[in-house]
Amino acid sequence: MKDVLIVGAGVTGSFIAKELSKYKLDVVVVERKSGAGLDQTKGCSGIIHPLQLPFGSLKSKLCLKGNAMMDEEADELGFTFKRVGLILVATNFITFLAIPLIQLYFKVNGVKSGRLSRKKILEMVPNIRRDIWGGLFLPTAGVVNPVEMTACAMRFAKANGVEFHYDCEVTGIERKGEGFVVKTTKGDFEAKCVINCAGLYADDIAKMVGYDMEITPGKGTHVVFEERGFSNHLVVAIPLKPNKRTKGGGALIGFDGKPIWGPNLIDVDSKEDTSVKKREVMGIMEKFSPLFRRKPEGVVAFYAGLRSIAGRDFVINQPVEGFINVAGIQSPGLTAAPAIAEMVIEMLSSVLKLERKEEIRKPEWRRTAEMSDEELKEAIAENKDFGEIICVCNMVSKAEILKALEEGACFDTVRHLTWAGMDCCKCHADIFKLIEEREGKVKKEMEGSEIIW
Ligand SMILES: Cc1cc2nc3c(=O)[nH]c(=O)nc-3n(C[C@H](O)[C@H](O)[C@H](O)COP(=O)(O)OP(=O)(O)OC[C@H]3O[C@@H](n4cnc5c(N)ncnc54)[C@H](O)[C@@H]3O)c2cc1C
Repeated sequence: MKDVLIVGAGVTGSFIAKELSKYKLDVVVVERKSGAGLDQTKGCSGIIHPLQLPFGSLKSKLCLKGNAMMDEEADELGFTFKRVGLILVATNFITFLAIPLIQLYFKVNGVKSGRLSRKKILEMVPNIRRDIWGGLFLPTAGVVNPVEMTACAMRFAKANGVEFHYDCEVTGIERKGEGFVVKTTKGDFEAKCVINCAGLYADDIAKMVGYDMEITPGKGTHVVFEERGFSNHLVVAIPLKPNKRTKGGGALIGFDGKPIWGPNLIDVDSKEDTSVKKREVMGIMEKFSPLFRRKPEGVVAFYAGLRSIAGRDFVINQPVEGFINVAGIQSPGLTAAPAIAEMVIEMLSSVLKLERKEEIRKPEWRRTAEMSDEELKEAIAENKDFGEIICVCNMVSKAEILKALEEGACFDTVRHLTWAGMDCCKCHADIFKLIEEREGKVKKEMEGSEIIW
């Protein structure tokens, strides 16, 4: 019998697995997709938020704590994290007058911010429109690649003994003695404790132990532009009336410096509807264009993700002894993930004996694009596949693609983890060939999404 079974390898399940791997426990993660972070996590904006309203809510507290933990997490796990900072811009006289009050409100609630004059903002973001009034700078805001962050947590967990099963969907849970029998498409698992991190489907999993809740999907669309350096900070206009359901998006940037505008919030019926509609893209363009003197050059992609919404706040509870819900983890779940993991370990400590391991292993991930000439020579001497560049646009070698396939045997894991073929396509055929040679077929993200077979 396992000590803990985690349902779902999104960012929350993966960070909990990573944290549990530091203890003398037998842990298993089951995930219906072919790799980690390929559902809600993949579709998010990748922002490490400086704050979340309303202050005092669980999601707000975990956001602040998760943000503060992020440098250490990035260092321990080896993912890219840049504190690029967020500029809140007053676009009219009334919002300008509100700045001191907003700053005081942030300060009282533990959020750092500094005043910016109009001149300073024009220097920091030369493309911003000239008639702005001033603003606030929130230096703790940052950016990550969400799938990389998740996969790095998984890699750490694996290196420290956690077992993983991908393409493995939970179909039922039964109580057995003090523990549970978890039925999956890959057979039954027995575990003393179950942690429900199933994202959009966490309500179905909770119902399996008799806890009634409902998750509704809230779609958010993004537009990605080519022009790196259009802005080196996140830019958001100060809203006078914050929206209760969403932070309202912004003129954001990705971890690679490319502008990302969005997301919006659209109610959809299906938990699989990640379609991008023309009117959604037009709406985003109309909302954020007025902040700037011109639009960034070259749209390279559109994508949408689905928030798992269960009311206004996160639902983290233990309705049945040994069964923990980590549900309704809408935004800012990416930011909060390290803090959520700590909270769950604390909850587990009342059910399981938690004893730290003496030795923790720290796995490595090497990127050709970040190597010096000397490092690249050494890497090629060790493994000639570092010398074969498959994606020239993003400088990704065959060695990295084969390594990514160990994390998830599908095209989306390779793309999101290595960035090969993400915003270019010349290398797709070569990537497909590598996946096919290793796996026999090429899936996009899970069983049934075959591109080539
Ligand atoms: C448009 C959008 C933008 C966002 N932007 C941000 C942002 O900038 N910053 C931020 O902090 N947060 C953001 N978020 C929120 C963030 O993405 C989520 O809070 C976070 O990804 C939730 O992670 P999770 O692990 O709980 O869920 P998921 O990532 O959805 O993971 C759940 C996993 O469970 C698996 N699963 C489901 N059912 C089963 C089953 N029956 N058996 C096995 N496995 C199953 C799924 O396949 C999935 O991989 C955004 C969300 C959206 C949608």
